[in-house]
Amino acid sequence: MTRAVALISGGVGGARLARGFEHLPDVRTTIVVNVGDDDTIYGLSVSPDIDTVLYTLAGLEGPHGWGRAGDTMVLMEHLDGLGVDTTFRLGDADAALNICRTMRLDAGDPLHEITASLAGSLGIRSKILPATNHPLRTEIRTGPDLWRPFQEYFVMRGQRDEVLEVRYTGAAEATAAPGVVEAIRTADVVVITPSNPPLSIWPILAIGDVAVALERARRVIAVSPLFGGRALKGPADRVMASLGLPPGNAGVHAAYEGLLDDLFIDSGDREDRDGLAASGVSVHVGSTLVADPERATAFAARIMELL
Ligand code: GDP
Ligand code: CA
Repeated sequence: MTRAVALISGGVGGARLARGFEHLPDVRTTIVVNVGDDDTIYGLSVSPDIDTVLYTLAGLEGPHGWGRAGDTMVLMEHLDGLGVDTTFRLGDADAALNICRTMRLDAGDPLHEITASLAGSLGIRSKILPATNHPLRTEIRTGPDLWRPFQEYFVMRGQRDEVLEVRYTGAAEATAAPGVVEAIRTADVVVITPSNPPLSIWPILAIGDVAVALERARRVIAVSPLFGGRALKGPADRVMASLGLPPGNAGVHAAYEGLLDDLFIDSGDREDRDGLAASGVSVHVGSTLVADPERATAFAARIMELL
């Protein structure tokens, strides 16, 4: 029997788990991807989380969680030569994809259709949807009155600032992209992937009709991004702490307060289970590393076995 799964995803953590579902037979997977990181860079409309998911599911992902493996950097060399700040690296094949997206957006095509055709051209089975077609932008407050665009905080300044506050500009006006609410509503299970909760998942939950659909979902399972209380890579634990969430998986649980039926935590964090005993959430302990396709597929199968 084919079952339907909806994944809620940021970049690397989400893409790695999504790759497991991509390889699982008898599962119809829809991946709802964060667009809060989207921006205009070198005049191009970039969607970094969508592209991380596209490249990872196509087996083309770069070694650092962005871009494509083996991509050349000729464009960046030429921009450097012209005095352009190229801290945000865009390889040549990656730039081509972003040119294609930009041209189609400029021609009036909605982001979800563009994303579907890119996924099709890369031979991906899963359905990849932007959370919304509306402009929704994550912004980070790093000083008393200093709001920075997400990519300035994340890439240009290398996540060195303390995150005092996060906002999702445009979220109040945004509605889910076509197919998102339907995918969540009809899913046998919704999986909140091990992405950064405040920076990758909250921007999706900030969209009103997505939040309502999630509250009504049949079953919601989150996979923790923490190992020994820390993110594998990136600022998730620091950002969660500075936004006032409790440390460890109590913080992951609090980040998704009221939404979860189940939470998967890593073996190294098994003590966190005691603190969650009264929460009503079923806590599952085991290896949550999904860095390679084999582990990801085994983990996806484990989730499906719960149903
Ligand atoms: P970005 O959008 O690419 O910056 O990244 P995400 O927000 O999607 O994911 C970042 C999170 O993924 C980090 O907090 C990592 O701890 C987590 N992560 C990366 N690889 C794995 C993994 O194999 N298993 C789990 N559970 N989490 C992972
Ligand atoms: Ca991201």
